[in-house]
Amino acid sequence: MAIIHSVHADTMTSVACPYFMPTARFEAIGWPHRARLPLGDGWQGHCTAPGHESLVPGPEELANFCNLGYARGCPHLPQERVWDAVRFSIARDKENLVTILYVCERDYRPGQHGTLEYDCSLARWCTAHPDPRIQKMAACYLECYLLRREKPALEPAT
Ligand code: SF4
Repeated sequence: MAIIHSVHADTMTSVACPYFMPTARFEAIGWPHRARLPLGDGWQGHCTAPGHESLVPGPEELANFCNLGYARGCPHLPQERVWDAVRFSIARDKENLVTILYVCERDYRPGQHGTLEYDCSLARWCTAHPDPRIQKMAACYLECYLLRREKPALEPAT
């Protein structure tokens, strides 16, 4: 059974594993409150942890670790690591510019953080994260946010 972190709002959710590279929505698992998942929905993808770069996590790993961060139960999580998790939230949405705040955490404490900006009118990022995993997770989070913004009825408020 999937472990779902308790969260209270769409704008600041729980976290995802920093080694996760999401590639597509993961519809197979029926998470409750999917919009509150760290990346705005459940995602499938692959692992980028050293020594496990070609690993495609199975449904249990995706449900319990990759999408949720603090994956100490995951056997692929490196013992030596800079971050345990990364979280995203919408910092600003105005005049076609969406600003996403990201926070990388270690031992439940915030570390590296910053903002990434997306121009909706140009459909491109104005600023991007140098780590392709963080950037891809931000893109996934943004995709879900924009979808809900356009079609809020898809995810009823709870
Ligand atoms: S939770 Fe484990 S399998 Fe998933 S991305 Fe992180 S280290 Fe890889």
